[in-house]
Amino acid sequence: MTKNVRVRFAPSPTGPLHIGGVRTALFNYLFAKKHNGTFVLRIEDTDQNRYVEGAEKYIVDALNWCNIPFDEGPGKNEKFGPYRQSERKHLYKQYAEQLIASGNAYYAFDTAESLDAARKEHEANKETFIYNWHNRLQLSNSLSLSAEETQTKLAAGEDYVIRFKSPQNETLHLTDIIRGNVTIDTNVLDDKVLFKSDGMPTYHLANIVDDHLMEITHVIRGEEWLPSLALHYQLYKAFGWESPEFAHLPLILKPTGKGKLSKRDGDKLGFPVFPLEWKSPEGEISRGYKEDGYFADAMVNFLAFLGWNPGTEQEIFNLDELVTAFDLDRVNKSGARFDPDKIKWFNHHYMQEQNNDDLAEIFKPIVDDNVSLSAVERSDIDVNYIAMVVGLIKERATFVNDFWDLSAFFFVSPKTYDEKAYKKAMKEDTRELMSELSMLINTVEDFEVENLTTTIKTWITNKEIGFGKVMMPLRLALVGALQGPDVFDIMYMIGKNQTVERIENLATTI
Ligand code: GLU
Repeated sequence: MTKNVRVRFAPSPTGPLHIGGVRTALFNYLFAKKHNGTFVLRIEDTDQNRYVEGAEKYIVDALNWCNIPFDEGPGKNEKFGPYRQSERKHLYKQYAEQLIASGNAYYAFDTAESLDAARKEHEANKETFIYNWHNRLQLSNSLSLSAEETQTKLAAGEDYVIRFKSPQNETLHLTDIIRGNVTIDTNVLDDKVLFKSDGMPTYHLANIVDDHLMEITHVIRGEEWLPSLALHYQLYKAFGWESPEFAHLPLILKPTGKGKLSKRDGDKLGFPVFPLEWKSPEGEISRGYKEDGYFADAMVNFLAFLGWNPGTEQEIFNLDELVTAFDLDRVNKSGARFDPDKIKWFNHHYMQEQNNDDLAEIFKPIVDDNVSLSAVERSDIDVNYIAMVVGLIKERATFVNDFWDLSAFFFVSPKTYDEKAYKKAMKEDTRELMSELSMLINTVEDFEVENLTTTIKTWITNKEIGFGKVMMPLRLALVGALQGPDVFDIMYMIGKNQTVERIENLATTI
C-alpha cells in the first residue's frame, strides 16, 4: 500500500454503541495499525432529532475500554477537525451548491404532504414511489420549474431540499474489497436528498465531503451501508474527487443464524449487546460486557472473528497479533453468527492469562462482603491470600463473579454438606478415621503442601485402606462438597486450626 492509510469510524451518537459498531471500529483500527495508518473518529451528528445525550462519551469510553483508541478525533490531534459534523455545519452548503452549479443536483420544493400523497397513490396501485428521472419533471423542483420560478421560491424563503440528480441509463461499476465488483443500473436509483432547508446536510453529503476533506483512503463500514455505495460513488464522480476504497463488513446475525442481531436482542436473549453498561436519559439500564465481567481482550478477540478468520486453526489472538494477522481479504461476505457461548469461552481463556494480583483486587470487595455477611472466622483477609486463592480456582472460572462460589471455603467453613456427597463419602468407619486423622494433622509441624501430602498418604497406605475412605470425607469436611482444588492445597491455605476444626465439625454430624 503506497498511500498513507487513513480510515475513520463514523458513528452517529443516537444511543449506546452496539456491539456491531464496536466490530466496525475494531476492523478499522486493525486495518489502520496494520498499515501504519491513522484511525479517525468522526461523530456524525447531523440529525439533531436523533441526538442522544451521553452517546458520544459512551463511544469514546467504549473504544478506550477495548484498547482501540482513535488517533484523531474530537479533542485529539485535531488537524483535520473539527470532527463533529454539527461543528462543520458551515462547510456543507457550498458543496451542495457546487453540485447544483455543475448540473448534478437540484432544488426540490415538494412538500411533505404532496410526497406523502404521491407515495400513497403508488401504494394503492401496488407500486413504489421513487423520486428520480422518470417523474422528476412532474414534481416541484428546479428542473421542472423555470429559473425565475425557482428564484422566486428561494427568495420567498420556501422550504426546499437539494437532491442529487441521478443519471438515467447508466451502468455503474462499483468495487468493494470484500464483495468484489458490483454492477448497478442507475435507473433504479432515487434522487437522494443531500441538503435540507434547516441548513443541515444529510448523511450522504456530509459523509462524502468529510471523507474527502479528511483524506480518508478506505471506508470500512457495515453491510447496511452497501445500498448507499452507488450514490457515494456518483458523488465522488460529480465532485471530481478520487473515491476511497470501500469494504462493507458482513452483518452480525442472531445466535440462531437467522436475522440481524438487533439492539433489543440482548434483553430478549439474555446477553449484552453493548460493550459498556448504558443508562438512557430516561434512566433505563442496558447491560454491558464490561460490567458483566468480560475482559476487553476477550471481547476484542471474539469480535475479530465475527466475519474475519486468519485462515488457520489459531483462535487466540491478542491485539498486536490481530494487527499482524488482520487482512480485509480474509473478511467474509456472508453474515457472521453471534455466539454468546463463544465469548464466554474467550473470557475463560483470557481469565487464565490475567495476573492473580489484579484479579484479587477485583475479587476482594466480593470476599469482604461475603465474609462480613457470614460474620466468621477470617475477618482479616489479606489481598495476597486472595491472590493465592485465585491462582487455585481460576481455571474453573469464566468470570470474577464465579470466584466466590468456587472459593467460599477458603474464607469460611462450610455450614452445610452437599447431600449426595455426604451419602457417598460417609461410611461406617468414617468417624473413627476422621478422629485419627485430626490427631495426625495436629502433630504435623511443617504445615505445607508437600509434607502434608506425604504424611497423610503414608498414613493411608500404612492403614491399607482405600484412599477414598479418607480423602472423600476430608474433602467434604473442608469444602462441604466433593469439589474444589487439591485437598492439600486447601489445608495449607486455611491452616492447621481450621483444618482440624472442620474435620471435627463433620465428625459431630455422624
Ligand atoms: N454515520 C453512519 C453510521 O452511523 C456512518 C456510516 C459510514 O461509515 O459511512 O453508521
